[in-house]
Amino acid sequence: MSARPCYLSGVQPSGRLHLGNYFGAIQNHIRLQDEGECLYFIADYHSLTTLQDAQALRKYSFAAAADYLALGLDPAKACLFRQSDVPEVAELAWILSTVTGMGLMERAHSFKDKTAKGIQPTLGLFFYPTLMAADILLYGADKVPVGQDQVQHIEMCRDMAGYFNHAFKKEVLKLPEGVLSAAPKVPGLTGGKMSKSDEASVLPIFGETSEIKKKVMTIVTDSKGVEEPKDPEGNLVYQLYRLVASKEETEAMAAAFRKGGMGYGDAKKLLAAKLEGTFGGAVRDKRKKMDENPDMVEDVLLTGAKKARRIAAETMERVYEATGLPVSKVKRALLDI
Ligand code: ATP
Ligand code: MG
Repeated sequence: MSARPCYLSGVQPSGRLHLGNYFGAIQNHIRLQDEGECLYFIADYHSLTTLQDAQALRKYSFAAAADYLALGLDPAKACLFRQSDVPEVAELAWILSTVTGMGLMERAHSFKDKTAKGIQPTLGLFFYPTLMAADILLYGADKVPVGQDQVQHIEMCRDMAGYFNHAFKKEVLKLPEGVLSAAPKVPGLTGGKMSKSDEASVLPIFGETSEIKKKVMTIVTDSKGVEEPKDPEGNLVYQLYRLVASKEETEAMAAAFRKGGMGYGDAKKLLAAKLEGTFGGAVRDKRKKMDENPDMVEDVLLTGAKKARRIAAETMERVYEATGLPVSKVKRALLDI
């Protein structure tokens, strides 16, 4: 048994990955590949709750994997796979639902938040925290890096694992620990948080130079003139700039805003240039290579799925054993990949 902790995290292929995903999650995921056993999955089953377009789901699933690889995920260190390539996760979610009280599910904030935003209140959307719990428990994750919005889901996952172990009188499922991201929420271009599912809010990590420039130049600002002093904290161009600029560059922009003489147009040009410097050049070329060699990405995902499935098989064997579901038949099927 490895003494290194197992980290698990997922990203939904519900749109193009953006700066919020990078600075809020992906950067940390890539750093962690040197600190533990990392399992990262493209959460395509989850995406079906909001995306019902086969072509788009395939496109975004591939793009999410390609983005991770271009940004530095090393498949020799971390395991990258598609959630649906290990369908046992849906089976475990069902099994968990049989020990989970309705009251727990009804207390979930995310369902209320999402339906308030106009997303169809489907059974899948309501069930989402159960599938997320299965994602975590299937792989026996120790640590789950999460944003503030997911903290409740980790608690629910721990509850479900406890209900299962209690119901079947055996410590079968390991209770995970949530690791709250220290990264601040990245604001979107339309006022709220940057979110994949709101295309207008997004600065994609891998847009073309012209697209990124255009998006940056259309960021809405107040109407203060170039010479007027401005508060950097209250302005989106500065908030995004400090993500990609060095400490000195960030301080220089803040000072110039406060003093007066820094116009929004110039600040936007500096931001666009920094974005190009961070995600353009060699990184974008690497990303383009993925589009030219889709089989390479598919190979990584297949290798990842095989590894993930082997871990899943061990958990499911214990689950079958504890519940009375047939072990031998399913175990054979699981290992035959
Ligand atoms: P969706 O609109 O489909 O919910 P999303 O852009 O919110 O997409 P998720 O797939 O929900 O992205 O989240 C992936 C990871 O990115 C999570 O760890 C989440 O906390 C992080 N994340 C998403 N948006 C931001 C943001 N604006 N700032 C910081 N982190 C973010
Ligand atoms: Mg989200």
